[in-house]
Order: sequence, then structure tokens, then C-alpha cells
Amino acid sequence: MTIYDKPPQEAETMLADLLNECEDFAPLKEAGVTVELSWARGKEDKDGYKPHPLKSRGHQVYGTAKLTNLQGRSLGQKDCVVTVDGDHWDESSQRTNEALLHHELYHFELVVGDDGAVETDDCGRPKLKLRHHDFEFGWFLQTARRYGADSNESQQFKQVCDAAGNLLPLVFTEPPKGDEERASGQAFATDTAALGAAVGKFKKLCRDHDVTVEFAKCGQAERESAKVG
Ligand SMILES: [Zn+2]
Repeated sequence: MTIYDKPPQEAETMLADLLNECEDFAPLKEAGVTVELSWARGKEDKDGYKPHPLKSRGHQVYGTAKLTNLQGRSLGQKDCVVTVDGDHWDESSQRTNEALLHHELYHFELVVGDDGAVETDDCGRPKLKLRHHDFEFGWFLQTARRYGADSNESQQFKQVCDAAGNLLPLVFTEPPKGDEERASGQAFATDTAALGAAVGKFKKLCRDHDVTVEFAKCGQAERESAKVG
């Protein structure tokens, strides 16, 4: 069972700071989009089992993003709602939690008309839609096993491998620590040893699965210019 709690002040502040200061959300800020933060926790049952409070299609998720419908907006509710798994939040680092809030906020996208202006609803509030993920994975191991290279599972894996030349540097990239560095958009330093080891493992995995990957894009120059955010 899921119970709902008041969000901690640090989370409210983090959300407000992201909306006000992160350039990714400048269009939302400019349009005056309002975001409610909701806090979900798992409730322990009598056997001491504590379920994950948030699920999507049967899988645990750490946060969700929802649009408020017209009726809710007419009652004065905020334009959209971010719900966070408070149990996972407590176990995660501040940066990981900030990344989660960034992810959920990034789902909200303004609806813009042909004239470039933000559309408004019957309450006069900015219209929003949900932005889809860049990648989504829906895998059945049994299908991949049965159909091998002919399965969509296998073909999707190849697509990820092809993209990995660009993605791996992001995974092994240390973000700048100080506010000043972050504000200046300074390129992040890459942990080259960790990246090298990961690329080695990845190449072996690709060889084992008979997948050809072009690693040219994963060269030193690319790594040094890798930037997140
Ligand atoms: Zn998402």
C-alpha cells in the first residue's frame, strides 16, 4: 500500500531552484507553469513487508510526472504534479535526487501553436504535454532467446550498442562540483580509467553477442568534450 506524506523542505527547495535556475526549464518558468510536489511512501504490512510506493506497468519507478486535468486546474490545483518515492529519496545522494527531479520536470513540455506562442486552456493556464523518454526498453528475455537476431529485443540491443560510443562517456563523467563551475557550463571531467575499463568490457560483450560497434566516436577528443546538462 502507498501512503502520501508532505514533501521535505529540501525537496521543495530543490524543485523550486531547478525551475528557477536551470536553463532547461526556462520556457516553463517564463510561461508561469506551477508544479506540485507529492511524496509517496510504502506502508509496511503486518508481516513487515514494505512495498515500493510507485509503479509503472508493474515495475518500480522512483518518480512520476502527471498533468493536472482541466477540472483540477479550475479548482486551483497546480498545472502538473511530480510524485517522488520518498523511501528511495532517503537512500539516495543529493545529486541523484536532483537528477530525479530534473528527469520528472523534463517530462513537462509546453504546447506551442503555429505562431510560436504557448497555447492556453479554458482556465487561461499554459497547455502542457508529456515529453517521451529518449530511450525506452521493453524486453522479454524469452523472445530474445527464441528469435535471436530476428527479435526486436536483439535489434534494440544493437541500436543501444551503436549509440554507446556516445553514451558511455556520459555515464562515466564527473559533473563539476562547485556552483560556479556548474553555472559556467564548464565541460565535465571524464574518469578515463573507468571509461577505458567499461569500453573494454563492452567490446567483449559485443564480441560475445556478435555485434559490430563503431567506437570511433569514443575517441579522446570526444571524451574530453563530453558534457552533461
Ligand atoms: Zn520518465
